[in-house]
Amino acid sequence: MADQIEPTGPVTAAWEYASAPESTDIVRLEDRYGLFINGEFAEPKSGRWFTTINPATEEPLAEVAEAGSEDVAVAVEAARAATGAWQGLPGSERAKYVFRIARQLQERAREFAVLETMNGGKPIKESRDVDLPLAAAHFFYYAGWADKLGYAFPGRPTPRPVGVAGQIIPWNFPMLMAAWKLAPALAAGNTVVLKPAETTPLTALLLAQVIQEAGLPPGVVNIVTGAGETGGALVDAPVDKIAFTGSTEVGKAIRRVTAGTGKRLTLELGGKAANIVFEDAPLDQAVEGVINGIFFNQGHVCCAGSRLLVQEPVFDALLTKLKDRLQTLSVGDPLDKNTDVGAINSRAQLEKIEELVASGVDEGAEIYQPPCDLPERGFWFRPTLFTGVSQSHRIAQEEIFGPVLSILTFRTPEEAVEKANNTPYGLSAGVWTEKGSRILWMAQRLRAGVVWANTFNRFDPTSPFGGYKESGFGREGGLHGLEPYLTFDGSAS
Ligand code: NDP
Repeated sequence: MADQIEPTGPVTAAWEYASAPESTDIVRLEDRYGLFINGEFAEPKSGRWFTTINPATEEPLAEVAEAGSEDVAVAVEAARAATGAWQGLPGSERAKYVFRIARQLQERAREFAVLETMNGGKPIKESRDVDLPLAAAHFFYYAGWADKLGYAFPGRPTPRPVGVAGQIIPWNFPMLMAAWKLAPALAAGNTVVLKPAETTPLTALLLAQVIQEAGLPPGVVNIVTGAGETGGALVDAPVDKIAFTGSTEVGKAIRRVTAGTGKRLTLELGGKAANIVFEDAPLDQAVEGVINGIFFNQGHVCCAGSRLLVQEPVFDALLTKLKDRLQTLSVGDPLDKNTDVGAINSRAQLEKIEELVASGVDEGAEIYQPPCDLPERGFWFRPTLFTGVSQSHRIAQEEIFGPVLSILTFRTPEEAVEKANNTPYGLSAGVWTEKGSRILWMAQRLRAGVVWANTFNRFDPTSPFGGYKESGFGREGGLHGLEPYLTFDGSAS
């Protein structure tokens, strides 16, 4: 484990719980996982494999195929060949398959949750209570639209599927992102090639088994594992649409490559959300929202509330409460049901967090970390607060994507809006106040795709999600998330 800054908080006893580890017996790992193409698992033509590990222990879990451009081409051909039959099915028939996937996810939720935690490092209580239920909910929700597409967009011609969708997803919510991508695409009648992130391929491959068991026609869903090069090959392949979730840097590169090709594109990129606490907010409730906003999933969340803006009169009171609350967070074994903050997803991500935190210290911000014992092996970072942060500091501008909160203050609502909007991003924001009129006033002025009021990190499949500015374009969730997978002009394949 890389060096960490020494904790600066007072050494007081946190809550002590007996450990309550979730058993991993339910997961049957295979030694090797091939590519899922045309309904079968196949050896990669590239001949290359990579090892996927548990970031909490650094122990290898399995070998996974690395798809080369030839493999991606075969997957795209399989998806193309499957379009006719899939689009030809009545919507009610397609819905049955999507419902079947949803039900299987519910039935096997524990297995998926444990595997998600083993491969990604997130606390089991989050995979169990958030990732899996929401993933199933997305399949249920979009299954319901499959036979109602003609009524979904009143006043517009009957929509048709766009054809083959190439979908690239990140490592922070592997199953949930797969569901966000696959469910609307399938319900709308498209076929897909999905590329999971290099560090978290295993739940997508388990999902491939579910898709096999659900009897989806071969080629409707294809899953190609690999790293950035595999994603690049998918972007270059003859697909009709690219849906990407990941970093702004890669999103920009994809936009450049797809420009002028006629490929449709949606991008869900980074964020630097402001969580704004007014002096009249219920402070204890706000503390829970702030903690959830930044420490949920170790802060590996595009919409994480990574900047806290506090109105000056309540700054001292809120900071004291936050520091107290930080000391009760349980950091460690993600499979322990009491764990609040699990492992950082990869060594590369840990190094990025460390570099940005060091820049915060160098630039003069004041760091606070509660005392906590970190495991010897694996990738870990203590929950961290920064005060004395200026707008120009890198920790106030750049996405850290880790358990690090930058705290700034404001005096007036106008100043809060000015500061909140002063980043290249525009994905989400939170407003804490007892005044409904102020919530509406703020929501009208915040350049953020989602504004939560007196809560944070709430998701629902019926509700659209997406960004402004460098957070991307296009929406996922709800009817808005269905639209990018449909064409209304009769030009689709
Ligand atoms: P990336 O954007 O690199 O990864 C997202 C997905 O894109 C992964 O499947 C990745 O593959 C793939 N990919 C990488 N390069 C290319 C390419 N040239 N063409 C097509 N696909 C590609 O994110 P990182 O994992 O590198 O994370 C870096 C930073 O991005 C984080 O620190 C965070 O700030 C931000 N991020 C934001 C996310 C969000 O939800 N908005 C999610 C993840 C990261 P592979 O993983 O195999 O390299």
